[in-house]
Amino acid sequence: MKVGILKEPKDEARVAMLPEAVKTLISWGAEVCVETGAGQTAYADDDAYRSSGAEIKQRAEVLTESDMICGIQALPLEEISKMKPDAVLLGQMGALFNPELTKFLIEQKRTAFSMELVPRTTRAQSMDVLSSMATVLGYKATLLAANSLPRFFPMFMTAAGSITPARVLVIGAGVAGLQAIATAKRLGATVFAFDVRQAAKEEVLSIGAKFIDVAGATEDKAAGGYAVEQSAEFIQRQKDTIHEHAQKADIIITTAQIPGRKAPLLVEERTVHAMKAGSVIVDLAASSGGNCALTQPDQTIDINGVRIIGVGNLAAELPQDASKMYGKNYLNFLKLIIKDGAINLNFEDDIVLGTCVCHAGEAKNSRIAEMIKQ
Ligand code: NAD
Repeated sequence: MKVGILKEPKDEARVAMLPEAVKTLISWGAEVCVETGAGQTAYADDDAYRSSGAEIKQRAEVLTESDMICGIQALPLEEISKMKPDAVLLGQMGALFNPELTKFLIEQKRTAFSMELVPRTTRAQSMDVLSSMATVLGYKATLLAANSLPRFFPMFMTAAGSITPARVLVIGAGVAGLQAIATAKRLGATVFAFDVRQAAKEEVLSIGAKFIDVAGATEDKAAGGYAVEQSAEFIQRQKDTIHEHAQKADIIITTAQIPGRKAPLLVEERTVHAMKAGSVIVDLAASSGGNCALTQPDQTIDINGVRIIGVGNLAAELPQDASKMYGKNYLNFLKLIIKDGAINLNFEDDIVLGTCVCHAGEAKNSRIAEMIKQ
């Protein structure tokens, strides 16, 4: 069985597997071919892949010869058509939000797995690319904010006077939020955070941040530990609390998301206008609508000296470790679908079934099947 690794599109610096992951895959009995230059932006050259045992090929060869293609961004439809009919395609293709691609894959009777669909269960944790990339996002968001802030993060007592620590407010304390908090703490900031899940409170306190309580949040056990939509009254109370805290903050990092829905709007326009000049908002929810009313996706805007950074593909800005984590997640997932060096799909396994977009002309993931019916 031959596994292909392609070079990602121009704005994506990560690669699905670095040479060390390729080496492991080869030790399982697979052959690996890598498009020339695939690892360049993640600082892995063709020679490093050759040393791991991979063949270096042109893109067209990788596409037409591979039995399995492991990527990150979705492939263009015309390239999918060039793959072997029974080849397996893996990526983070956003299948739930890309009906054109999903319908095409089903019509073409392709076998495709979309890594953002990996069930968020304990057994699947080591394959969860969303968690890995959220770790990258949280860390990078804080660094981005620190870099944009016209002030220090830590407290200093110097001969030139004292500097008070920067005050950071993190909204949403999931994987990305906790990493943003931890990074801001390491840099010496005073950090405040809040979330609608009570479980997040303990985690926030355990890493040394202060938790802001807003009474009356709705939680639903059936949501498997994730946030659910909140009542209009609660959201208004949250907005008022944020408004109050934002005026004292130097930095706000927003990460609040609700799976499958538009991100909640929590930082209002009046709040941005009330903030100190020089303060910075980093909105990690920019691509799902934004937590701040004025966020522009993929842009930094300035409102009376308050900069709002609507982050795009921040994971690609840490390409080496992001690719390393991605590759490790892939290997853990591939262990489930490769047996004795050959592809072996067991749809009795909830992770294999849940991650599969389609196989043999049929939608496999239940949410994909629902989406296709609409
Ligand atoms: P996410 O990216 O969907 O959301 C980010 C955070 O925003 C969450 O903590 C959420 O509670 C919060 N949020 C939503 N609405 C909000 C609001 N109105 N105000 C404030 N905060 C709001 O979530 P995530 O980071 O992917 O994960 C959330 C939880 O799931 C965490 O407990 C995490 O540990 C758990 N998790 C488990 C697994 C697994 O078991 N495989 C994998 C990933 C995450």
